[in-house]
Amino acid sequence: MQLIECPWCGPREEVEFHYGGQAHVAYPADPQALSDEEWAHYVFFRDNPKGLFTERWSHSVGCRRWFNAVRDTATYRFQASS
Ligand SMILES: [Zn+2]
Repeated sequence: MQLIECPWCGPREEVEFHYGGQAHVAYPADPQALSDEEWAHYVFFRDNPKGLFTERWSHSVGCRRWFNAVRDTATYRFQASS
């Protein structure tokens, strides 16, 4: 088990957190103009890199706040959170 750094609570055990997917996925500026294929891409398609990846995490059992973290997907180790 590893510790994850919550920006508000400090380091806590990973079982207190929930993964929220890729960070910085912007909502479409003009959603009415999107085709079905573009909507599918927005909803379902995410990057899947081997290495550093910016993600959303929730400290669901603690302060319940969301934050961004950079995690290495090859080692599962967190590099930073904010
Ligand atoms: Zn917290």
